[in-house]
Amino acid sequence: MSEQNIWDILIVGGGPAGLSAAIAASERQNTKVLICEREEVLGGIPRHSDHTGWGTRDLRWNYSGPAYAKKLISLVQKSGPTIHIGTTILKIETKDDLHDVHTVSPQGIQIFRARVVIIATGCRESTRHSRLLPGKRPLGIFNTGALQQFVHSKGISPGTRAVILGSEHVSFSAVMTLKKAGIKIVAMIEPDAYTHSFSPVSWLFQKWYNFPVLLNNRIVGINGDSRVSSIKVEDMLTHQKNEIQCDTLIVSGDFTPEVTLAINSNLAIDPATKGVFIDSMLQTDRKGIYACGNVLHGAETGDIAALEGRWAGGNAIRYLDHQMFEAQKIRISCESPIAWISPGNILSPSQTVPAFLYTMHVNQRVRNAVVSARCNGEIIWKKNYGTLTPNRRIPVPVRNWKIPAGISSRDLIHLSIE
Ligand SMILES: Cc1cc2nc3c(=O)[nH]c(=O)nc-3n(C[C@H](O)[C@H](O)[C@H](O)COP(=O)(O)OP(=O)(O)OC[C@H]3O[C@@H](n4cnc5c(N)ncnc54)[C@H](O)[C@@H]3O)c2cc1C
Repeated sequence: MSEQNIWDILIVGGGPAGLSAAIAASERQNTKVLICEREEVLGGIPRHSDHTGWGTRDLRWNYSGPAYAKKLISLVQKSGPTIHIGTTILKIETKDDLHDVHTVSPQGIQIFRARVVIIATGCRESTRHSRLLPGKRPLGIFNTGALQQFVHSKGISPGTRAVILGSEHVSFSAVMTLKKAGIKIVAMIEPDAYTHSFSPVSWLFQKWYNFPVLLNNRIVGINGDSRVSSIKVEDMLTHQKNEIQCDTLIVSGDFTPEVTLAINSNLAIDPATKGVFIDSMLQTDRKGIYACGNVLHGAETGDIAALEGRWAGGNAIRYLDHQMFEAQKIRISCESPIAWISPGNILSPSQTVPAFLYTMHVNQRVRNAVVSARCNGEIIWKKNYGTLTPNRRIPVPVRNWKIPAGISSRDLIHLSIE
């Protein structure tokens, strides 16, 4: 392949992370940037999510999802990368620091060669099958993404009475979409004893939209032959069972990173986040391949995915300009109830990283949580967080950690709640 046919930076995925990576990467003069997106349009998830709450941290404005996608697309078009839509990336093979990117599109199977690849393939909500929900298999069961595609993109109202499973931020996004579509919300079901979104949000939504949140409840049956007719729930404290009449069930949240491409390309996966393994430069375990956005961990907000995209795009430029230096990775281990921290390591000698970068999640609610990081028994950082809730972003200011001089990859940093 001639030098002319080699892309400097190839970006997989045209959501907030991929588009922001492209904008950052295009700042380098004479750099050939290609975005490949499997759908027929750029924009990713926000295209279908027609309510406000998008873009505050990256674009400093509160957009609706479609307006946010449109703004990012216009910024990308101004910065001038090549765009291939309808193009799915199947796998990446690497030889001599060049990456052969296998694609399929209406043009057939093609291989593009690139010096840097940035993976921004997002994540997906879990289905009723992956949540092992028992019962019949009638029509009328959707996740939030599918619901929003019906309502906002196709103008179809897919039901009349809905139950929502889950109480994450995205579950309240489902509330807004159902209301817009004129669908009555009969109940929100949450197996935990608390809602996973912010308490004021949960309280206000229940009041505004007039629906109950059934805490400590789980779904034990789905009824209906051709269409959902009711669901059976069990109160896990009293074991009392109730039947709720509805024709729609929204299975919301519980996100899984979209790592099919990374697995097909033999890239390392972080077992804790189930996302692509990365370091603080957002480089994967293979030189010249970066990853950003929700492919790293369950759903963050779009603006955080976009900021990660900018960071990955900027680091890709530094890589092309040979400004990245070899560093040792020091692993950060997490003790339950901390589920994970991402990135799961720091680099030494330490490099300046942006404040938003490190985030952790817990797997159960913890009150009065004092989180500490220890290295070789010494406390190198401590913070009182108050109450921590699962499925919420918990920023970790790793920049403030007092990393011992001379730390090496043989050392381990341990994160725990005291
Ligand atoms: C229903 C819902 C509501 C939400 N509401 C909000 C909100 O109000 N505010 C907010 O800030 N965040 C919200 N979020 C979170 C937000 O959607 C994500 O943070 C953001 O979209 C992540 O950006 P991303 O680029 O990582 O992934 P995505 O937006 O998912 O984009 C990934 C892109 O990669 C493409 N792709 C995947 N695999 C391939 C492949 N192999 N080849 C080529 N292309 C590929 C996909 O088609 C997609 O376009 C919501 C999420 C959901 C599901």
